Amino acid sequence: MQGLVVDHRIRMSARARRVTLRVTAEKGLEVVVPRGFDTAAVPRILERSKRWIDTAMARAELQREALESRPPWEVPAQVELPASGSAWRVEARKTGARRVSVRELEGRQLRVSGAIESEAACRDALTRWLMRQARAWLIPRLQSISSRTGLRYKRASVRRQATRLGSCSARGTISLNAKLLLLSPELVDYVLVHELCHLNQMNHSKHFWDLVRRHHPDCHAHASRVRESWRSIPRWAS
Ligand SMILES: [Zn+2]
Repeated sequence: MQGLVVDHRIRMSARARRVTLRVTAEKGLEVVVPRGFDTAAVPRILERSKRWIDTAMARAELQREALESRPPWEVPAQVELPASGSAWRVEARKTGARRVSVRELEGRQLRVSGAIESEAACRDALTRWLMRQARAWLIPRLQSISSRTGLRYKRASVRRQATRLGSCSARGTISLNAKLLLLSPELVDYVLVHELCHLNQMNHSKHFWDLVRRHHPDCHAHASRVRESWRSIPRWAS
């Protein structure tokens, strides 16, 4: 029986209350157990979760292949922000610095300098720049849609979220994802209307969609185009 068990690592965790299984592309299968747990029970747990493990391992394998087949990192030659209809030529400069900085120069030019061979450092610096752009552009846009539609909000902020385009709280605060700048203007307007309508209806009920449709007639087509565009966000911002 033992021989059939998949490769795994066992990690004791003081905070764990029960046994959890984790599969990642980097570490494979990890079994997290509470302190004092009798690890002799692990093979049986793995046997019982075999189907879940197989699926998760297959998914991790695909992720690993995708990561390995990526071309080496290069600073993009141009950065485009479709939402605001702007584009910057990028001048990349390698220096001895450990970090990367982004500076705006005359004539829609960006200077990216420092440890430009590091994808993580470049993405970090470019994302910080994107946040500033997003604050300057998305917030006024939200304000103007709010006054045009009469859909009110109290506060708005821009964040760097991994997957969510925007969110709102019951207290009337809207958070917008800086990466919205990478979508087309129509799609951004749709997302802003969507979030503003949530302040009226904190759900995706029929009432909610009726409200969205009143302010944005093409909302369903837009909702699916947003999901599509989200998948093709350039590497520097993804
Ligand atoms: Zn929603």
